[in-house]
Amino acid sequence: MLARRRYDARRALEMTELRQRTRLKIMPSEMKRRPILRTLGLIAALAGGGAQAQDPYTRERAALLQEIAAMARDTGAETGRPAFAARVMAAIAKVPRHRFVPAQYGSLAYANRPLPIGHGQTISQPYIVALMTELLDAKPGSSVLEIGTGSGYQAAVLAELVDRVHSIEIIEPIGNNAAAILQQLGYKNIETRIGDGYGGWPERAPFDAIIVTAAAPHVPPALVAQLKPGGRMVIPVGGTLEVQFLQVLVKQADGSISTQRSLPVRFVPLTRNR
Ligand code: SAH
Repeated sequence: MLARRRYDARRALEMTELRQRTRLKIMPSEMKRRPILRTLGLIAALAGGGAQAQDPYTRERAALLQEIAAMARDTGAETGRPAFAARVMAAIAKVPRHRFVPAQYGSLAYANRPLPIGHGQTISQPYIVALMTELLDAKPGSSVLEIGTGSGYQAAVLAELVDRVHSIEIIEPIGNNAAAILQQLGYKNIETRIGDGYGGWPERAPFDAIIVTAAAPHVPPALVAQLKPGGRMVIPVGGTLEVQFLQVLVKQADGSISTQRSLPVRFVPLTRNR
């Protein structure tokens, strides 16, 4: 089945493009024509709250939620998650993605695609952010480590769901920019730092969940070590020129690791400080 997956190079600028849509022959316009999911509309309405009337992106955000739900259904057999948790969808509905994309891409802020954020890096495709968040099973009260702060968007989505988010970014101006936006938006439960996340964040370990948003050639051992028993890690594994796969690792009570392979994805590489 995998061999028959067709790859679409049209969206060359996206680094985290999921090719699933091509394989399933679902194009965005068709997705938009799908009937509105009442529950999603409700989530969007609730998350928007009183500010909704003033938010020019309300409609686009609601359409994005529908598209994410449709993709979740269509990829459910491979991800094991045909419907994402309501709280994950509510977090996506709430976080203002337009604040995390460069001004010139404002009109594309709620398109279901990655966008450049400078320095050769990208803000991930919203469906992928939702999927990775879903696969993490991030619970209230938990502490999460993110490697690859990037725009800060994924960190903000997680911050809606857990107690504390710790996020590491290797490119200083990118990390500083994300920290400033997260501060402007009032996120007090996100701690960021500049550095190489390959070694994790020992001072803040152990973590209930670890999310890596850059592709690693292998799972960094330090990250496995910093996961609590019962903890989960979601990480794209594979080289830049290879097909990468999202992997879900679960640390068992005895410290052993179970690994499940999820969808093929395309992320920017995890780079190293030398
Ligand atoms: N989570 C981000 C997407 C980030 S793209 C978002 O929501 O926008 C991946 C990011 O990982 C890039 O910003 C890249 O600079 C960063 N990165 C790559 N290697 C890294 C490393 N070793 N440690 C920390 N960050 C790294």
